[in-house]
Amino acid sequence: MPQVAVIGAGPAGLQTAIRLKELGVEVSVFEEHESIGVPEHCTGLISKRGVEELGLHLGDSLQNSIKGAKIFSPSGKMIKVKTKEVVAYVVNRKEFDSILLRKARLIGVHVSTETKLIDVRNNTLFIQNQKRGELRKADIIVGADGVNSTVRHLIGLKNNKDDFIHTIQTTCTGEFDPEMVEVHLLDYAKGFFAWVVPISKDKAKVGLGSTLGENISEALKKFISEKLKNARPYHYESALIPYGEPLKGIVKNNLVLIGDAAFQTKATTGGGVIFGMKSANILSQTIADTLNKKTTLNNYEKRMEKLNKELNFHFKIRRYANSLTPSELDELFLKLKNKGIEEFLIKEGNMDEPTKFIGKLLTNPKYFTMLGTAIKFLTA
Ligand SMILES: Cc1cc2nc3c(=O)[nH]c(=O)nc-3n(C[C@H](O)[C@H](O)[C@H](O)COP(=O)(O)OP(=O)(O)OC[C@H]3O[C@@H](n4cnc5c(N)ncnc54)[C@H](O)[C@@H]3O)c2cc1C
Repeated sequence: MPQVAVIGAGPAGLQTAIRLKELGVEVSVFEEHESIGVPEHCTGLISKRGVEELGLHLGDSLQNSIKGAKIFSPSGKMIKVKTKEVVAYVVNRKEFDSILLRKARLIGVHVSTETKLIDVRNNTLFIQNQKRGELRKADIIVGADGVNSTVRHLIGLKNNKDDFIHTIQTTCTGEFDPEMVEVHLLDYAKGFFAWVVPISKDKAKVGLGSTLGENISEALKKFISEKLKNARPYHYESALIPYGEPLKGIVKNNLVLIGDAAFQTKATTGGGVIFGMKSANILSQTIADTLNKKTTLNNYEKRMEKLNKELNFHFKIRRYANSLTPSELDELFLKLKNKGIEEFLIKEGNMDEPTKFIGKLLTNPKYFTMLGTAIKFLTA
């Protein structure tokens, strides 16, 4: 009997399992799919800073290195932030997850594929293993089972359709700036945006997200035909992104959530790989301390406060942007551009930790005339 069962072999689950094993805890991972990292419905854009902080080895998963972003307002006004240094990497998620899987197995973590969690009663897990029902036991059960988490339901946390962004992504051949990602705020990408993340100068991952209920396939086709030169899309994938503040109440008895299951995702971009893995380090230490009777599992939420502060800030930025009409967004772009936002972000920008630069922005005398905007932002 493992002390801990981790449900889901995505980055959050595998990182939790790896760290637990390194801390001397017996851990098994149960993954419903036959292969790890598929279906691949992630753009794989992760910050260089996050990769370094987590000590990740990207190996063959590395597809490209990124130096900046072009952000377009609904009418096409552009804010361009380009640095001399690499600020982010594009990875192939199937390969990225496979590297974590190999690492986990190498140190002795048992990972079962085609093994789906159906239900939990106390220490007993009801598992469907290649269509056969089985029972397993574990002291602590970690729900790293993604956006549609079963463990989240078992904990009793309810969601509604506004808690998710519906996305569609394709790979396109065409002509792209290989060092720059593009973000397009569009009236037909309601509540989110369209993106272009280059893999090379002639290939990019192109996608669009919107609130549930919108026709995202049509919207993506419109975006590609209107904005991308000579782009030829192939192979579409559709998936949900959690949208909201990180969840509270993510520990109940011996059940606990991590990663997308806990909404540990940046609401600005939908990025959750780095935050999920950082949270995994916090969770695994808390589980080890709990098993060693140094703390209780509930302390996990307290230890998440610093990361949650950043995630809450991402949500604040997204909520503010979503509260503006397309013409208000255009106006904001112009004002920020005129006040030198591009130079400011080149120097101070941080794609994971907005609290590090928003404070500096709001207290910079250059932006004092935008006090009204600042107040609207803080109260959005
Ligand atoms: C279109 C799109 C683009 C994205 N782009 C980026 C990006 O550029 N950068 C970034 O950082 N993030 C991005 N994300 C978000 C990122 O993919 C997620 O935040 C990340 O995968 C979350 O990791 P996780 O381990 O929590 O969950 P997942 O990676 O979703 O892993 C969960 C695992 O649990 C398994 N599972 C589910 N239910 C069960 C069950 N009952 N029993 C057993 N196994 C189960 C699933 O099969 C899956 O393997 C994107 C998401 C989407 C949809």
